[in-house]
Amino acid sequence: MAKKTVGYVQLEWACPRCATRNPGPQKFCNGCGGPQPADVPFTQAAEEKLLTDAAEIARAKAGPDIHCPYCGSRNPGAAKFCGACGGKLEGGQARRAGQVVGAHRAGPARPVRCPSCGTENPAGAGRCSNCGAGLAAEAPAPAGPAQARPPRRGLLIGLGVLLVLGCLATAAVLILGGRTHPVSAVVQDVNWTRSVALESLGMVQYEDWRDNIPADAQVGGCRTEYRATSDEPGPNSTEVCGTPYTVDTGGGYGEVVQDCVYEVYDDWCDYTVQGWQVVDTLTSSGYDLNPYWPSVSLAGDQREGEAQEQYTVVFATDDGQVEYQAQSAADFSQFIIGSAWELEIDSFGNLSSISPGP
Ligand SMILES: [Zn+2]
Ligand SMILES: [Zn+2]
Ligand SMILES: [Zn+2]
Repeated sequence: MAKKTVGYVQLEWACPRCATRNPGPQKFCNGCGGPQPADVPFTQAAEEKLLTDAAEIARAKAGPDIHCPYCGSRNPGAAKFCGACGGKLEGGQARRAGQVVGAHRAGPARPVRCPSCGTENPAGAGRCSNCGAGLAAEAPAPAGPAQARPPRRGLLIGLGVLLVLGCLATAAVLILGGRTHPVSAVVQDVNWTRSVALESLGMVQYEDWRDNIPADAQVGGCRTEYRATSDEPGPNSTEVCGTPYTVDTGGGYGEVVQDCVYEVYDDWCDYTVQGWQVVDTLTSSGYDLNPYWPSVSLAGDQREGEAQEQYTVVFATDDGQVEYQAQSAADFSQFIIGSAWELEIDSFGNLSSISPGP
């Protein structure tokens, strides 16, 4: 899946001393002037407006802020030296980044009610316009994207029980099925069939993707059809993207991204190519032990195709008729009508072995 950047937005942080909501990139609280704590989480603004200012977008792209290894001050990701003490930032601790803070809030947000006096304030307000209380308590909890729930325990146990029962049933079938009993039999009937396909060379029609068609084929009509889904855009692909969501960059900004796949469309074509096609099947058959192949006379553009043979022996037993398919003409030739045989029959009524009778 390809990750596409939709844009960048400001996140917010709530002052732990006065509950004022402050813009993410701002290092001091608008309400009490206190410093932004190193571990304060960044959360989504009620309404996320994509940044348009090039300089601010560059700051958002700079990546996580770095805390100075000497004085602890927070510095932008692109800085080399600490803005507060001038120390080298190499080796300083970068802020956590990359976590999803929630689905992108593109639309206008509802006003925020002040938790102290009940006044309605604009969605983005940091403090109450009436009483000055911080509005962070009303800040909506960050909503993560839907996550796959692990399968429930009960379901797993149920599957386990089914598996065990299945194994027991299979074992029972194998043990019971393996038991056979002897049956005396006499050959009552025999029959055989032999067939040969007759093929003719001509133009044969097929369908396939254009790039699979043989070079010597004549391509007929084509139509555009869905072929595959790809992670990368390509020629003839349609982009399909999921809901945009916001990812913490670690610098007080969020990157709004979308996961996209590409549905690839391609030409599905009819084509004709010269090939062999079955035009007839010649068959001979009989009720004796002397099978023969049908006589085939070929025209100039014809050849013999697939040959098939089938030899059936019907036994009469005390349990009724039992049929046997002989493996070859040689095998078949032993079953003279009226001859006696000993059969082994399993518990499903299947023939498991044959030997000459007394
Ligand atoms: Zn404050
Ligand atoms: Zn410093
Ligand atoms: Zn208020």
